[in-house]
Amino acid sequence: MLALLLSGLAAVAMVGGLAYVGINKKVDLIRRQQVADHFYKYLSAYLTQYGGWQAANAAEPFERFMHRTQAAERLDVAMQQNGAQAASSDAPRAADGEPGPAPGGRLSPPDDGGPGMPPQPDGRPRFRPDFDGPGGRPRPMPGEEGGPPPPPPGAGPADAGGREPGGQRPGERPPPPPGPRPGNEPPFHFIVADQDYKVLLGAGVYRPGEALPAAARKDARPVMVAGQVAAYISPEGVFTPSKEELQYLAAMREALLAGVTGAAVLALVLGVLLSKRLSRTLSSLTDAVRAMHGGSLLQRVPVHGKDEVAALANAFNAMSEQLARSHKELSASHQTILEQADQLRELSVRDALTKLYNRRHFDEQATTLFNQAVRHKRPLSLVIGDIDFFKRINDQYSHATGDAVLRQVGEILRGHMRLSDLVARYGGEEFVIALPETALPQAAALCDKLRHLIEGFPWHEVQPGLKVTMSMGVYADLAAGTAEAMLQQADALLYRAKESGRNQVCFA
Ligand code: GH3
Ligand code: MG
Ligand code: MG
Repeated sequence: MLALLLSGLAAVAMVGGLAYVGINKKVDLIRRQQVADHFYKYLSAYLTQYGGWQAANAAEPFERFMHRTQAAERLDVAMQQNGAQAASSDAPRAADGEPGPAPGGRLSPPDDGGPGMPPQPDGRPRFRPDFDGPGGRPRPMPGEEGGPPPPPPGAGPADAGGREPGGQRPGERPPPPPGPRPGNEPPFHFIVADQDYKVLLGAGVYRPGEALPAAARKDARPVMVAGQVAAYISPEGVFTPSKEELQYLAAMREALLAGVTGAAVLALVLGVLLSKRLSRTLSSLTDAVRAMHGGSLLQRVPVHGKDEVAALANAFNAMSEQLARSHKELSASHQTILEQADQLRELSVRDALTKLYNRRHFDEQATTLFNQAVRHKRPLSLVIGDIDFFKRINDQYSHATGDAVLRQVGEILRGHMRLSDLVARYGGEEFVIALPETALPQAAALCDKLRHLIEGFPWHEVQPGLKVTMSMGVYADLAAGTAEAMLQQADALLYRAKESGRNQVCFA
């Protein structure tokens, strides 16, 4: 949340800073261009009028030419503004060569140059060359508040920056001293050189006739007269904004600051709102994940809106639903497998015809029961029974009848066992029984009861004339050593029962 807020504020500050630097640069560029155009205009007119620098300078110094031209322009404007009467009252001063702003090396930007400054009525930019020296700031016009008093009529214009120190004409103001300005910024001024880059106006930086250095030539702009290069203008120094521009920039800065402050507040408010919503969704997502980890796979988090956070919540809900569904299907499938495994296990231990246990299962369980009986010194009786003359039943009636007899005998045996007893079909028409916690007398009695039940079953209902009996051998001495050995002893007793006439129980 903090990172979100900080990054929003940083973005606002960066955009504000870039905008401020960009505005300053752009204003500086525009002003430079305007000043250069102005200077170019007057120099071009000066050279065109006199045919060349030497002739022009001999006839009239450049700065005087500029003052005169500007005075004429102002007069023209005044006439347009105030009518012929106002213009006529102003004309003598202009005709007298009232010193207007002096041309030359250092120029302030035109007064109308900045945004918000109205242009002159005739659409021309106001222009006021200046000589205020260090700092290059606009010097108040003569007669303006804070400016020097207007020179007496006929006085020459102030010297241009291009005139060398000491080279001014009598009565002319000396050029401003060149040198560093406050902030160590060199003053802004124009250098004029001839077509061979020999300095004509040096602005107190170069001497006339001196070759313009290569660095200054780079930005030099040619002044064309009659299709030929008559001179070069090269700007130098740092352009210092005028008072109006500084005011304008200050206003821009204030507006920008207000805008940046507003944007920062907006970024903060939006950041707080957004991060609150984000943290609320993240919190519900965390709770839901914890619940899923606890086993409740089906979770649903609230979804607000349609943004990325809402998309995440939707995706989570869909995933949770899918997971819960898959888990349910998997659980059902797992249950089916368990049931099928149980069925398979049951089938593997059961006899298909009688549903009693099979021989393999009986052998395993009999061994377990024998070991328990030995360990706990408890009685255990093992029984083996065999249907008498079963082959004859098959032969006399049918194999199906034989199967029915087997199923029914199995039913009788199972129906009279305890839960702890174990009865199984041992093979063919032979059955085995394990009777835990049963000593020989009880086991012999039980077997005799079973023999009676089998003999007494209404077999004639199965097949008319059908009779079924069973011979049995019972053995209960654990000293035999193993369940298998006990079963062999029981089989021997069964054989004795057969030998003794069948349908009887022999035990030992
Ligand atoms: P004993 O009284 O001496 O036991 O004579 P028995 O005929 O019962 O004994 P024997 O071993 O001679 O015959 C057993 C017969 O049981 C032979 C066999 O065909 C039959 N038998 C074995 N398994 C099945 C079965 O699953 N179904 C049917 N119907 N008959 C079977
Ligand atoms: Mg047999
Ligand atoms: Mg038999």
